[in-house]
Amino acid sequence: MQAGFPKIYDPKGIEERLYKAWAQEGLFTPKPDEEKEKFVIVIPPPNVTGKLTLGHVLDNELQDILVRFASLQGNEALWVPGEDHAGIATQVVVERKLAREGKSKEDLGREGFIKEVWRWAEEHRDIIRHQHERLGFAADWSRERFTLDEGLSRAVRKAFVHLYDKGLIYRGLRIVNWCPRCHTAISNEETSYEERQGSLWYIRYPLEDGSGHVTVATTRPETMLGDTAVAVHPSDERYRHLVGKRVILPLMNREIPVIADEQVQPDFGTGAVKVTPSHDAADYEIGKRHDLAKVRVINEAGVMTEEAGAYAGKDRYAARKEIVRDLQSQGLLEKTEPYRLSVAVCERCETVIEPLLSEQWFLQMKPLAEPAIQAVQDGVIRFYPERWKNLYFHWMRNIQDWCISRQLWWGHRIPIYTCPKCGHVFASVDEPSVCPRCAASDLTQDPDVLDTWFSSWLWPFSVMGWPDETEDLKRYYPTATLVSGWDIIYLWVARMIMAGLEFTAKPPFDAVFFHVMIRDERGRKMSKSLGNSPDPFELIDRYGADALRFGLMLITPREQDVCYSEERIKVGRNFVNKLWNSARLLDSLRNGEEAEIPADPTPTERWMLARLAKAADEAATLIKKHDLYNAAKYLYNFYWHSFCDWGLEFAKIAKKSGRSVSCALYCFRSSLAMLHPYMPFITEELWERFSLADHRLFSDRWPEVPSEFSQSPPSVDAMTDLITAVRTMRAELGVGKDTPVPVAVVTSDDEVLSAFEENMLYLKGLARIESVARVQEKPHPSTGSVFGWGAVYLPLAELVSSGRLNLEAERARISKELAKLEGEVKKINSRLTDDGFLSNAPDEIVSGERERLETFTAKIARLRELKEGLT
Ligand SMILES: [Zn+2]
Ligand SMILES: [Zn+2]
Repeated sequence: MQAGFPKIYDPKGIEERLYKAWAQEGLFTPKPDEEKEKFVIVIPPPNVTGKLTLGHVLDNELQDILVRFASLQGNEALWVPGEDHAGIATQVVVERKLAREGKSKEDLGREGFIKEVWRWAEEHRDIIRHQHERLGFAADWSRERFTLDEGLSRAVRKAFVHLYDKGLIYRGLRIVNWCPRCHTAISNEETSYEERQGSLWYIRYPLEDGSGHVTVATTRPETMLGDTAVAVHPSDERYRHLVGKRVILPLMNREIPVIADEQVQPDFGTGAVKVTPSHDAADYEIGKRHDLAKVRVINEAGVMTEEAGAYAGKDRYAARKEIVRDLQSQGLLEKTEPYRLSVAVCERCETVIEPLLSEQWFLQMKPLAEPAIQAVQDGVIRFYPERWKNLYFHWMRNIQDWCISRQLWWGHRIPIYTCPKCGHVFASVDEPSVCPRCAASDLTQDPDVLDTWFSSWLWPFSVMGWPDETEDLKRYYPTATLVSGWDIIYLWVARMIMAGLEFTAKPPFDAVFFHVMIRDERGRKMSKSLGNSPDPFELIDRYGADALRFGLMLITPREQDVCYSEERIKVGRNFVNKLWNSARLLDSLRNGEEAEIPADPTPTERWMLARLAKAADEAATLIKKHDLYNAAKYLYNFYWHSFCDWGLEFAKIAKKSGRSVSCALYCFRSSLAMLHPYMPFITEELWERFSLADHRLFSDRWPEVPSEFSQSPPSVDAMTDLITAVRTMRAELGVGKDTPVPVAVVTSDDEVLSAFEENMLYLKGLARIESVARVQEKPHPSTGSVFGWGAVYLPLAELVSSGRLNLEAERARISKELAKLEGEVKKINSRLTDDGFLSNAPDEIVSGERERLETFTAKIARLRELKEGLT
């Protein structure tokens, strides 16, 4: 054993040292090479709100694998990293931090607050950068960007002015989702829904002519103060006679009409509904159709306005209580029913959303969506898996105008200016000092900022320097693959496609790789509020980055969301250890040989080379299809079960008779290259330790085994069959693995037989086979296995006569085991025919029972066969 090859792999020091070295060498900054194809990925910039979660690790690991693989494929590979300022999300966390210190953002003022958020953002950018380094990500940090940096801010203004001058940006009065705590409009995608227990209040609205009343049902009685009509469905017989009459709005004593509108659902409540155009999106539409007045009774802080009469100045929920009480005392509350409803809340602060009529900036989306639909339809941009196209098309064909203004302080200030003198309103990329119309100064800028996605949607080209025609933009744009969770297909992916086509006339990427979401062990989405995401960096401390990376790949197939399990990370760790231990073994066998294909490969070496060729081919094909999960499984099985279990074992035995291990070294070297994208640290460490090249693995090439070695010799396949069968039969009969056994073979294939004879060295070494005899038929008593090339038997008479096997005792043991298994099968069968069990037990228990039944039945068949052979 070479001195200095530690017995145990300790990732800590190694990972840190290697990443430092990579960074110092500028390994991930591509060297322009006209010969090479380019492969570029831009990172989905993580929010600077906090630390990375397991979901981020997965998202970024997939990109890292693709970038490293592309480099090994001979591409000029570039991965551009960066972070997102994340408008509302960051503003809310900093506000919370201030609140803990007893301060508010108003105490600091706009400028002071923004300074505070910058401090926070810089601090978290450092944390995120460090976390990426710990994971080994091959990002080019010399190109790192931030969505609020100088260049990107200019890109945002440029894009805004372009769209404004094109007439696509307009100011409009609409019902928006208003968060009274964050004090801003938010998009539908920034709200989430919570099931809550509420009430349905039935309120009587007296008819103005004194002939009775109409009862309406509502879950939000405080909005009634802003009612401007009562509506019923036009074909609702119950109310037809009331349409056109007027009712008196209780508490406000205002006359409002009864109208008929198709949108009313006759089966909700009483079938008559109150209409509040200022506080409900659907009512707003009804109001537009019937030209109803808009009365705003709740303000931006969730407080009742002057229009709310006696309730003005009260919080919306306090007002609700008083309104219900007052209705009751006036005899206008018919009844109250418990009612479960789904309530929209602000995703960031969980405050209940107030739909408000509000003046905001909107971007007209339809004209932008058309070419973006076309690009995906024509396959100019491909989706993996393809089924996500449906969601994309659905959203794009029903696209709504985008509310792009936010009443926040943290973000890109809207570049709209108003002249105090002539009233001219205009957009400008650079801050204007005078009005272009009347040359007046003291222009005022719109106080609002842009939705955070207004910078994210420019990301693939703004990071390259757009709007300037930079070298990077020319060289690295459009990018290759975008990796994203499917949950932001609207918020981000679709919008980037639209922006790319609008501003650069090019699709921003060739392909989108949608990955699954990781859920917790109970299937719930991982979230900060549930506290159910394990800290990935604690996992790295415990298992190492490579183990975490490989383990994660083993839980994430492409198609459905997956549940996290630490067991898989342990599988990753075991694989890292296997890699280390096998390298250590190989190190002890080598004697200054080169890693190369020998001039005269033996059959076992040819067999190994054929396996390697297949693995290199198969894994590359899978990775190109973005099936990183099956590629990981394939590589795992190849390395462990082909290379370690056979190739290395053959080499070890051959070494004893003086054969060089150069072929094993060649396969090992190739394996390191193939595993490198998944496990960059340990592979690089071994690459260095074995001095396999004077360049980094990142700059190496994916293995290409010469095609003359693509066929595996059938005789070696037969040898592995034989060895495996003998090992199994020994275990079944309780014959110790050090006890030599004779083997009888029935075969008509002379080549196979002579291969056995010529390779007794391996048969002895790997299964303690003392002799192989050709027989005409199955010996008695015996146990055996049948293969395509023939059959293998352990002739038992010889084992018995030489005292290596006690037939009686073996038969008794098998009978006992059979009885036990048959008992189990009976129990499972009765469970699986019991309707009570089937309907009550969870699915995974039932399917677990079915699996056990299958395993046991197969075992029973094998034991019966064995028992028969013993008589
Ligand atoms: Zn909020
Ligand atoms: Zn002017």
